[in-house]
Amino acid sequence: MQVLIAEDDPISRKILAHFLGNEGFEVLSVSNGREAWEVIKKGDVRLVISDWVMPELDGIELCKRLREADLSKYVYIIMVTAKNRTDDLIKGLEAGADDFIFKPINKAELLVKIKVGRRILELENELFDKNQQLSRANELLTKMSLTDSLMEIGNRRSFHQYMEKVHATYSRYGTPYCIAMADIDNFKSFNDTYGHREGDKVLKLVAQSIKKTVRISDEVFRYGGEEIAIIFSNQKVEGGYRAAERVRRKIESLGIVHEDNRPFGIVTISIGVACSDLVRRERSRWEDVLKQADIAVYRAKRNGKNQVQAIRPGNYEVVQEQLTM
Ligand code: GH3
Ligand code: MG
Ligand code: MG
Ligand code: MG
Repeated sequence: MQVLIAEDDPISRKILAHFLGNEGFEVLSVSNGREAWEVIKKGDVRLVISDWVMPELDGIELCKRLREADLSKYVYIIMVTAKNRTDDLIKGLEAGADDFIFKPINKAELLVKIKVGRRILELENELFDKNQQLSRANELLTKMSLTDSLMEIGNRRSFHQYMEKVHATYSRYGTPYCIAMADIDNFKSFNDTYGHREGDKVLKLVAQSIKKTVRISDEVFRYGGEEIAIIFSNQKVEGGYRAAERVRRKIESLGIVHEDNRPFGIVTISIGVACSDLVRRERSRWEDVLKQADIAVYRAKRNGKNQVQAIRPGNYEVVQEQLTM
C-alpha cells in the first residue's frame, strides 16, 4: 500500500519514511502541501500522512483542497501536529482530516491509525465496486425496458418516448420528420405455412435489414406484431418517400420465399409515410402524424401491397409516386 508523507522538516520526514518503509509500505515523500497535492491529483495515493505547519500550502489547506476536489476515490488523511488543543482538532477535522497524531510520533499508535485508515479505504473500495455494478445493472435494465428482444430494435415504449422528443423539436424549431410505418405483407400465412419459429427469424431479419438500410440519424422501432415504425429525421415527404422506397426494395432484395404472398412469392412489406408538416407546429401531436401514416399503410395494402404510399401536406389524398432512386 502506498503512503504519502508530507513533511517540511527533512529529518522527521526521513525517520518517518524509513519507519514506514520497514513496515512494508510503499512510501512517497514530499516537503510541502503543494507538492503533496500534485501527487494526490494523479489519483494513485489513497492514504496521506501530512504535517500541519508547512510552507507554500499547509496541512489544513491541503485537506480543504482535497475535499473540494472531485477525486474519483476517497483519500484518507492523518494530520501530524504539535498542536494539542481541542479547537485545533476541530479546525483540522472541519477542514477534512480523518485523524490526528501528535508529535513526537508514537510509532505503534501511528501503525494502528494507518490500519484504521486502510480498513475504511477497503470499505470504500467495496462500496465503489458495488455502485459500479449497480449502475451497470441499471443501464442494462433501462436498455432492456426499451428494446424489443426478438427484433433487437426499440420497442413501443421507446417509440413513444422518441416521438415526444422529435415532435417537440418540430414544434419548437420546425425541424421536420417523417414516420414510415412498415407492415409485412400476408405475414399470418407465412406463419401458417412455415411455422411461427421461421416467422420469428424473418421478423428479426427484416428489422435488422431495415436498421442497416436507414441512416444512423434515423430510428427504427417495433410498433406491434409485424409492424415496424421508422422515423426519418429532418425529412419532408419527398425525402421520406424516397428513403421508405429504399427500405421496401431492400426487403424485396432479400428474396425470402413466401409462396402465399402472391403475386410476389417472397416476403415483401407495405409502407405508409406521413410527415410532420401535415400538422401545425403548435398544439399538434405526433399521434396525428401517426394516424396519417396508418391511413397510408392501409392504402398501400388495398392498392396491391409491396409498395410505399405517402401523404402530401395540404392534400390528404394518398399519392403513389414513381420516383427513380
Ligand atoms: P397484411 O398483408 O394485410 O398485413 O396481412 P397480415 O397477415 O400480415 O396481417 P395481420 O395483421 O392480419 O397479421 C399479422 C400477423 O403477424 C399475425 C401474427 O401471426 C404475426 N405476428 C405478429 N407478431 C409475431 C411474432 O412475434 N412472431 C411471429 N412469428 N409472428 C407474429
Ligand atoms: Mg512543519
Ligand atoms: Mg399488421
Ligand atoms: Mg401484415
